[in-house]
Amino acid sequence: MKKPRITVIGSINMDLVTVAENMPEQGETISGDSFKTLPGGKGANQAVAAARLGAEVHMIGKVGDDPFGRALLENFKTQGVNTDPIETEAGTSSGLANIIVSNHDNRIIIIAGANGEVNPDYVNGFKKQIGASDYVLIQFEIPKRTIEHILDLCETLGVPVIINPAPAMQLDDVHWEKAAYITPNDNEAEKLFAYDTDGLPKFHERLIITNGAKGASFFREDRMITVPTEKVEVTDTTGAGDTFNGALAVALAEGKALEEAVAFANKAASLSVQKLGAQSGMPKREEME
Ligand code: ATP
Repeated sequence: MKKPRITVIGSINMDLVTVAENMPEQGETISGDSFKTLPGGKGANQAVAAARLGAEVHMIGKVGDDPFGRALLENFKTQGVNTDPIETEAGTSSGLANIIVSNHDNRIIIIAGANGEVNPDYVNGFKKQIGASDYVLIQFEIPKRTIEHILDLCETLGVPVIINPAPAMQLDDVHWEKAAYITPNDNEAEKLFAYDTDGLPKFHERLIITNGAKGASFFREDRMITVPTEKVEVTDTTGAGDTFNGALAVALAEGKALEEAVAFANKAASLSVQKLGAQSGMPKREEME
């Protein structure tokens, strides 16, 4: 079987994770317990999820001209993601998530850095690669005007787009309508897609709503179909949504029917939550059989 070809256009971050017993108060300096750097960013995570499941994945995004950027590129290579389109943006930091974890509490500051420079002109440089894709997968950690531009461009090129609308951001109807599928979690769905007078959420025909341990739902002939997931022992749910989206794109690109594709995505995500870390828990294709 030909490998499915997926292009992910989105964010690439380094997560800087500091673990401390307590959160520092305002103006206070404390000693922490540990520090580690972990590759992340929704775009990068979804690209890695799809590559691990056997797709040919092309990542379109930017990193900063710093040691994090170089480490992030290296990580993609290890994971089998094609990095040819990735640009290193001079004079800008890589996308960063500064995370302090303390006793089940966390505080996070995101720096968009180079992700904020993923602009329409840069995306236009990869029309050929985008046009040759079975699916394009996007999230909302790059500028809104770029999101809109990608949807317009993919319509012209005839390539279906999956939008993972995270973090939640509203688009105009014209642009939502250009998506083949929209994959909010239940909170994002509630924020973005109000119920119409017919008692169904707006754009229900293209929604796939994820709902944690309950699995995910879609609509067929105005009826909601929930595809349950297996009950598993949870270690870390970070990146569950990203694994779901990467896997969904692979399954749809392989021509699986929607219900089967959602079941495949559930399965991949349920495997990922059993291991620590966003990317490190993502299953390889062999683990899915
Ligand atoms: P996250 O932000 O943690 O990455 P999310 O909020 O984007 O996730 P969820 O709806 O929580 O998305 O989870 C996405 C998918 O991951 C679910 O549809 C399901 O397939 C799987 N999943 C999440 N939590 C669990 C769990 N506890 N057990 C099994 N599968 C899970």
